[in-house]
Amino acid sequence: MTRSTVLIVTPDQTRSIEINVWWLRWLRPVLIVLAISTVALGVALGIVTARYLSEHRHNTRQLSQLRQEVANLRNFTSTEINAKLAALGQSEQMVDNVARYLKARGVNVTPISIEPPKGMPNPAAGGVLARIGKPTPYTGSFAHDTENLLQALQDTPLGVPHHGPLSSRFGMRPNPFTGHGSEFHGGLDFKGDAGDSVHCTANGKVIVAGREGGYGNVVEVEHQHGYATVYAHLSRINVKPGQQVRAGDVLGAIGSTGRSTGPHLHYEVQHDGKRLDPEKFLSLSAPAPALD
Ligand SMILES: [Zn+2]
Repeated sequence: MTRSTVLIVTPDQTRSIEINVWWLRWLRPVLIVLAISTVALGVALGIVTARYLSEHRHNTRQLSQLRQEVANLRNFTSTEINAKLAALGQSEQMVDNVARYLKARGVNVTPISIEPPKGMPNPAAGGVLARIGKPTPYTGSFAHDTENLLQALQDTPLGVPHHGPLSSRFGMRPNPFTGHGSEFHGGLDFKGDAGDSVHCTANGKVIVAGREGGYGNVVEVEHQHGYATVYAHLSRINVKPGQQVRAGDVLGAIGSTGRSTGPHLHYEVQHDGKRLDPEKFLSLSAPAPALD
């Protein structure tokens, strides 16, 4: 056991006291341990604080990046949706044009319904952003109706059988052979060179393919909805009676056979046996023919 002697000097007397200081032995190591612990704690606190601050800065940066991305996404999405809606509007317009073209020519197709089935979201309605996430596909009547419409369109004469300038229109005209008097011209004449391709203007079945009086070499195609088309004065015929043909198929080649003054294509559109002005069938925007 360690003992120390403490000398106390006062004006009156001098005394000595003996104190037990065994614990002083432990004071130094305890102080050293305490000092080391304090320093270690300080360093640890410093590291943790630095990490926290760094993380915080990083998170703040990420958060602001995320906010920017969400804003960009919102802008992008609404731009994209607007573009889709505009495209949808154009499609509806085209479908409407086709439907009106057909209706004016006596072809009635199932009415077009652009409404989605009950319970399905209408893509044209507002608030689309809230529903992004899970698109709900549906096969409504729109797709079905459009298919019917396109089928009817392919079955009805549309467009030109040959790309060339018109040389004679439908209706009364001066007689091209005698030069005097006038005659009824029951079709449309397209200028062309002998050998140029002649295309069918609708899906159908060939009912005539051969030589027939003033028509010369002629092809007649029967279509749906009471329609038929005639392609006359051909130099060559590529099809046979009974053959199914599609819009755009090559039926033969331009020539000058039959009652003709030079190579050209005489094109007729008939409805229930009556010849109509083929110019009313050249494009979707052509004026409607008079049907009776
Ligand atoms: Zn003609």
